[in-house]
Amino acid sequence: MQKYGGTSVADSERIAAVADHVARTVRAGNQVVVVVSAMGKTTDELIHLADQVSKTQTPREMDMLLSAGERISMSLLCLALADLGVHAISFTGSQAGIITDTSHMKAKILDIKADRLRKAIEEGKVPVVAGFQGVSTSKDVTTLGRGGSDTTAVALAATLGASVCEIYTDVSGVYTADPRVVSTARKLGTISFEEMLELASSGGRVLALRSVEFARNFNVPLHVRSSFTWEPGTWVKEEDPTMEQAVVSAISHEAQEVKITITKVPDKPGVAAQIFRSIADRGINVDMIVQNTSIDGFTDISFTAPRQDMQSAIEVTEKVAKDIGAEAVYGDKEIGRVSLVGAGMKSHPGVTAQVFETLAAQNINIEMISTSAIRISCVVRESQLEAAVLALHSAFGL
Ligand code: ASP
Ligand code: MG
Repeated sequence: MQKYGGTSVADSERIAAVADHVARTVRAGNQVVVVVSAMGKTTDELIHLADQVSKTQTPREMDMLLSAGERISMSLLCLALADLGVHAISFTGSQAGIITDTSHMKAKILDIKADRLRKAIEEGKVPVVAGFQGVSTSKDVTTLGRGGSDTTAVALAATLGASVCEIYTDVSGVYTADPRVVSTARKLGTISFEEMLELASSGGRVLALRSVEFARNFNVPLHVRSSFTWEPGTWVKEEDPTMEQAVVSAISHEAQEVKITITKVPDKPGVAAQIFRSIADRGINVDMIVQNTSIDGFTDISFTAPRQDMQSAIEVTEKVAKDIGAEAVYGDKEIGRVSLVGAGMKSHPGVTAQVFETLAAQNINIEMISTSAIRISCVVRESQLEAAVLALHSAFGL
């Protein structure tokens, strides 16, 4: 399975380069299935067009529109492959048998009926599938949410029993930190599914979170690599139990969040449930939550959410705050989150202390903390985020 992202097929030259690589892979004796994203910024441009003509943005029609981007790249790639003597055949998500639920623009894959793809492969053809789309149980075209082509590729790889799912992109793999922030960041040779899940959910943008979940659940090895240099990249696969695990494998950061604080919340059962139910019902994904029991019957509750949801998060929270008799709601955009991920953390005490000491030495104040078995995240001032990433990267010898 080879998946090519938007930058990999951004223009005619890139499509020719990708066609050449697919042709070589086929000539080397491999059975290949290709998944493509829309060319370059096509999806953004289609959304922009929709913004100009409509306030309503009926979800069904948005999906019809957005799914068009991938149709362009899949057919162009097949045309280019034909010139190279490769018999390629394009499939929309629907034609590829990708059945989803009916929630437009964030549909979930329910089933894949891959007989057409299997038949094409048996006939020696190379199926080129439009990423990010499917057909719903009520026969409408759906899309899987931004970045969804990764999910298409991994789901098809699992269904077809591919030996590897190669994700071609414009970076050469997964790094110990964002190389734009840390110039000494290194490319990782391998990383476990669990670590990649933590990275993808804490600001790492190389792979869509859901595609990593799929890969882990169906044990599909991923190889994240560059379509510009074609050099070997980073393997994402099951943990090797015979190998010593790194305490910290990588550091990610996220600056696109907001912290919302509700002050003087009555400290009694059901209040947090009420707040977070209303937020969930607005479809807002809450990340960190901090609350402490009080000594005077009141407490402050803070949580983080994606910055794009700030307005609606404040709106709902203010409404609930009134209902439950809390004092006020504050939104703070100037925050950033740094996360350290490493499978070896499970068995090494003292990592948290070292994180805090490192930040203290830089005079960086920690505002919120959350941890999992293999991750430590701290919220700091956005202005100090890059300094935090740099200091931690060197403190843990990455
Ligand atoms: N073209 C879609 C997007 O830009 C899907 C993808 O690229 O994975 O979100
Ligand atoms: Mg994309």
